[in-house]
Amino acid sequence: MVFDSLPAERALEILRGSFVVTPASGGDPAAARREVAEAPGPTVAPLAMVRPDKVIQPGSSDGFDPPADYDALRSAAIQCTRCGLADGRTQVVFSDGHPDASVMVVGEAPGANEDRTGLPFVGRAGKLLDLILASVDLSRERNVYICNVLKCRPPGNRNPLPHEIETCSPWLRRQIELVRPRAILAVGTFSGRLLSGRDVALGKLRGQVYTYQGIPLVVTYHPAALLRNPRWVRPTWDDFQLLRGILERS
Ligand code: SF4
Repeated sequence: MVFDSLPAERALEILRGSFVVTPASGGDPAAARREVAEAPGPTVAPLAMVRPDKVIQPGSSDGFDPPADYDALRSAAIQCTRCGLADGRTQVVFSDGHPDASVMVVGEAPGANEDRTGLPFVGRAGKLLDLILASVDLSRERNVYICNVLKCRPPGNRNPLPHEIETCSPWLRRQIELVRPRAILAVGTFSGRLLSGRDVALGKLRGQVYTYQGIPLVVTYHPAALLRNPRWVRPTWDDFQLLRGILERS
């Protein structure tokens, strides 16, 4: 099975069909979402696994203090030239979704589609993320805020560099302070490491609940990775059940 050749809808259908017993939706997306939302989570870990607060370690070395008002923060960020990524970007990708969201999704960095549109998580990976979020009754239109660790696209979609993360992270730190979601979902290695404060592989980061500034934090695979590797679909599904459990208890 090669997920890379599948549209996002089909990938999620496989995700649903493999791990949730929901044969009665009859192809109706609303019914499928209800069934998925009502299905028991397969491996919801206990919240007793919550670890002590971690903080974003880098970001204050130059004393930069972003605005504490959301609109002012956004206006300042979209003009940012604090690192070299400003030279190659089309535009700053600040966020999508609602600033009063219940859940904040934090990815890694914009790709080509994001750089072009100015929105995080568009394209096939973004569509898959939206579909998985919908399966636990979340959407960027209603209750999800989405952003990235880096706000500008690294050239050639390379990985973020440590000094870029350090320079850009004050924007993210302030976004979290102002949005103050009920839960944070870090997708991908870089956001997971940054927010959990643990420098280990994603496979060791996921599957448990951390806290960041008192906010429950779950780490899971990036949807682009899911499109490449079906072995990570099951653990991702488990992580979303973990997130659902947090929201139901809070
Ligand atoms: S990546 Fe972050 S720090 Fe660098 S220019 Fe863009 S917004 Fe500024």
